[in-house]
Parts: sequence; structure tokens; C-alpha cells
Amino acid sequence: MKCLGIESTAHSFGIGITDGKQEILNKKVMYKSKGGIHPREASQFLTENAPDLFKNIDFNDIDAIAFSQGPGLGPCLRVGSVIAKMLASYHEKPLIGVNHCVAHIEVGKWATNCKDPLVVYVSGANTQILGLKGGRYRVYGETLDTGLGNAIDVFGRALDLEFPAGPEIEQLARKGKKFIELPYTVKGMDLAFSGLVTAAQKLVKKEPARDLAYSFQETIFAMLVEVSERALAHTEKREVMLVGGVAQNQRLCQMFTGMASQHDARFFVPKPEYNGDNGFMIALTGWKMHEAGIKHCLKNLKTDQKWRTDEVEIAW
Ligand code: AMP
Ligand code: MG
Repeated sequence: MKCLGIESTAHSFGIGITDGKQEILNKKVMYKSKGGIHPREASQFLTENAPDLFKNIDFNDIDAIAFSQGPGLGPCLRVGSVIAKMLASYHEKPLIGVNHCVAHIEVGKWATNCKDPLVVYVSGANTQILGLKGGRYRVYGETLDTGLGNAIDVFGRALDLEFPAGPEIEQLARKGKKFIELPYTVKGMDLAFSGLVTAAQKLVKKEPARDLAYSFQETIFAMLVEVSERALAHTEKREVMLVGGVAQNQRLCQMFTGMASQHDARFFVPKPEYNGDNGFMIALTGWKMHEAGIKHCLKNLKTDQKWRTDEVEIAW
């Protein structure tokens, strides 16, 4: 059985095909902008560029269609949803609504071959520490305000960097020498980034950008590692997997490698093409849901901008 997946939660529109084992297709288009993602402009870009991706797809060879139902930006989610519903209806295929965060976890496990990890999911909009227990990905800790990537990007804007700022801040931070104390906000098992971002913004032009970038990264990553370490000790899992766009950061991976090894756990991070949003991850999760007998009614599949990871029953 082959599943086609459609991803459109933010600035990219991706499609993928899988038979549950292999990646048969995975391609995407990306909306680029200077200051961040403007939801309406992004959705317009996706609407204009998505149709081309479907050229040469033989729908006789596809058994089910899956799409990102949420969470994400409303206007962008609706582009994927309308296309998926139209294709499913026209070609008479079952339609499956996939949770975007669960798909990041599933593709991470597929790409790294880990089995039951503590998952640290760090993207632009999301920051959650998760583990599978009793048929759901439980949230052990999460951000109370913005996602880690967004916090990095907002700080980057103050430094006049292009969006997304993560990669450039990582390079700048490597040259930093002086550590500047910044707010470190861990509340129980949760994290808050806005105080740290504001404090760092206020120091721009007063301190060298490289020292600020270095101090910002060290502080914000240490907060994340602290909470993840406590979750690892609590769950006693033997694997730690870092997923989402921020997982591309080498310094963050280095910190997690050290933490995991102190707990005799193995550390995993997927390759960048599987960490970024992609259609294959939706196809893979849709495939698993279809094989588990999950059936959705086309009319009930409304997009949900705030669909939480722990609301999804993991029946596979
Ligand atoms: P996603 O939402 O999963 O597509 O991830 C996008 C986010 O990842 C953006 O906020 C980027 O700034 C961030 N990001 C990408 N590469 C890096 C990096 N090397 N270091 C830190 N953040 C990064
Ligand atoms: Mg994502």
C-alpha cells in the first residue's frame, strides 16, 4: 500500500510518497521572506507553487492521501487541506489527517532507527520534550511562550540577520569569547524564552554580536538540556532523539550528546532533510495510521492550528 503525504503548516509545501519502508518521493517548495513568516503571503506562495509538485504523479499507484491537519498557521494549513480533500475526493482515495508534530517524531525514528526515545522536538513554533507512554506521546516539558526557533529568529532580527537566523547565530556564536549573563527561566519542567530574548535585544549595540550570540545560545540551550535531563532520569529511557529545525545546530547536538552519555543513553538526530518540514513525514505517518485501521471522514477533517501532540492516540 502506498500513501501520498501533503505538508503545509508554515512556509513550505511538501509532498512525499512511501510504501511504509522506503522514501519513494520527497520534494517541496519554500516561501522565503526577510523578517519572518507572513501567514497570508506564505499561503499565497504555497497556493501558486503547490500545483506544479503534483505533475507526473500516477494516482492509480496511490492507495491513500494524508495531509498535515495541524498544528500550524491557519492560512497555510488550509492550502494543504483543500488540495488533499480535492485529490482524495476526485481520485476516490481514503483521506487521513496527520498531526504535524507526531509526523516529525515518526520520521525521526524512521531516519535514525531508534525505537523508544525521549524526544526533544525543537522547531520554529514548537518546543516539547516527549515520550511514548500508554499509547500517547506524553509532554514532559514544553515552552510556555514561543518556540525555541522563533526565540532565536526574533533575537536574530535585533542583530539585523536574515530569517531564519538560526544558522547565522550558530556561526557567530563560535567566535564568541566573553559570556554575558542572561535570564535563565526554567519553571518546573517548562521553559520560558521571552525574558531572555528581551534582555539580549537590549544589549545589542552595547556588546559585540559574537559574544551576545554565544551567550544567548549557551543559555537557551542549557535551559532545554536541563529539562530534558530531568525527563530522561524520570522516564529512564535509553535513547534521546532531537528533532525539528533547531536540531541542525551542532552546539546543541554536542550538549545533548554529553548529557545522554552521562545517563548511558544513546543520542540520535535525523539528517537535515528529515528535520525540516517535508511531505514524506506526513506520508509515513499517514501510512502507519492507515495500516492501523484508522479511518477519517472527509467532512470531519477540519484543520486545527493548535492541535497538541498529546491529544493523538498512537495506535500503531
Ligand atoms: P522548523 O520550524 O522545524 O522548520 O525549523 C525552523 C527553525 O529552525 C527556524 O527558527 C530556524 O532559525 C531554526 N534553525 C535552523 N537551523 C538552525 C541552526 N543551525 N541553529 C539554530 N536554529 C536553527
Ligand atoms: Mg515542523
